[in-house]
Amino acid sequence: MSQPRARIVIIGGGPGGYEAALVAAQLDAKVTVIEEDGLGGACVLTDCVPSKTLIATSSMMADLEDAHGLGIRFDAAETGVAAAAASQAGGFPNVRHASADAPRIYSRIRDLAHAQSSDVAARLAAEGVDVIIGRGRLVRPGVVAVGETELAADTVLIATGARPRVLADATPDGERLLTSRQIYDIDELPRELIVVGSGVTGAEFASAFQALGSQVTLVSSREHVLPNEDTDAAMVVEDVFRRRGMTVLGRSRATFARRTSDGVEVGLADGGTAHGSHCLLTVGMVPLTSELGLESGKVEVDQRGFVTVDRVSRTSAPGVYAAGDCTGVWMLASVAAMQGRIAMWHALGEAVRPLRLGHVAATIFTEPEIATVGVSQQDVDRGVVSARVVKLPLATNARAKMDGFGDGFVKLFARLNSGTVLGGVIVAPRASELILAVSLAVEQQLTVDQVAQTFAVYPSLTGSITEAARKLMVPME
Ligand SMILES: Cc1cc2nc3c(=O)[nH]c(=O)nc-3n(C[C@H](O)[C@H](O)[C@H](O)COP(=O)(O)OP(=O)(O)OC[C@H]3O[C@@H](n4cnc5c(N)ncnc54)[C@H](O)[C@@H]3O)c2cc1C
Repeated sequence: MSQPRARIVIIGGGPGGYEAALVAAQLDAKVTVIEEDGLGGACVLTDCVPSKTLIATSSMMADLEDAHGLGIRFDAAETGVAAAAASQAGGFPNVRHASADAPRIYSRIRDLAHAQSSDVAARLAAEGVDVIIGRGRLVRPGVVAVGETELAADTVLIATGARPRVLADATPDGERLLTSRQIYDIDELPRELIVVGSGVTGAEFASAFQALGSQVTLVSSREHVLPNEDTDAAMVVEDVFRRRGMTVLGRSRATFARRTSDGVEVGLADGGTAHGSHCLLTVGMVPLTSELGLESGKVEVDQRGFVTVDRVSRTSAPGVYAAGDCTGVWMLASVAAMQGRIAMWHALGEAVRPLRLGHVAATIFTEPEIATVGVSQQDVDRGVVSARVVKLPLATNARAKMDGFGDGFVKLFARLNSGTVLGGVIVAPRASELILAVSLAVEQQLTVDQVAQTFAVYPSLTGSITEAARKLMVPME
């Protein structure tokens, strides 16, 4: 007699939820996803996908800005009929005067996000996953409710994500005082944008809007931008920000933000103020775990409200798992998705490897990008890991010279005796793509000798990865 199909109910349709649903469906479970906004979650609709779509445009603008350095001269302005024709054909009528068409940028972002959400919905439908639009809550372990309807489940996955934190004295109004989820709803490019918070989200938006033509002021409560990242990398990015005309206010905690008659005013801890046309608040995320019935389900949360999970995504309640931003483990789409998949493999009795955060590749999509994987400089400096470190500036790389940039480096960490690659940092345009080579080395426990003996194309930025590995090779006695 065949076993009854396992019943899985997932609350939240972001990457933590929908990737789990796909795994569970593949393992022949009966899967229901409850989502109150749209499939793909905040990741697809308001956060990751929209911000990276914005950055695709801002990178193009930055390239145009730098084009004269590569010997490109733009011809005199096209006007009248020629300009209109070029614009209608989807091109710039006059590249020399390229400027951001904010309504078009924002509508492209919204369209792309909705298209991506539809793709997720179609994929789930094709795999036989039931989707219920509504707000889910845990009634008790094994029972989830949506409105008046109760669903029985052998396994429940909580994947409800997080929302932007707001400050008591800086209430977003969706017009001038904005969270990262509201920035695409205004109909203009902020003329003078004050970004409060210099973590990953703040730095990415500051970089993008500066490239698009906004005058950006970045308010950082810490000594330098990106305080939790590799300091060498953060310093390169801060230097580029300043050279491109951004005002970076270090050690300047924002105390309030409010509207004025024609813009915004941001109060600073030293008593000063900053003025601009708009203010973007990027001061962290808070988990969406209240009003979820977690107490009645006996699911523990920590002091900040994040669901407590182990490395196979189990919560304190039997049969209840959690994945993604609501756990606060590492707020990345890739981590959310992996936590969700691991939860399903574990719940459905498959062999599973617990989550390994030491192998997560992450990128900050500033200009230039910062990509990291494995151990960090901090780990080495604090003696948590014994490693040899080499840092190669890209300024001497032939390909970097040809492409016209000199800001960036490749850094590799290798275990002292064995030479096993433990991690790396790349600061470069498209570092998000380049880091895979280091990721592979970390995942497969390759030694610096093996990386050094791997062919890289000449000329290429990846040539600096193999060169860094060569520098870490210990000569035979
Ligand atoms: C501006 C920004 C840019 C980012 N860029 C990147 C990036 O480039 N790369 C990267 O890896 N990560 C990025 N992230 C982080 C990434 O977006 C998150 O880590 C990811 O969205 C987490 O996925 P999740 O499934 O946990 O939550 P979400 O994507 O937030 O999805 C959770 C879903 O649950 C739904 N939900 C909540 N409560 C209920 C309920 N009670 N009932 C039903 N549904 C509910 C919500 O509506 C939401 O759709 C970015 C974040 C921000 C803010």
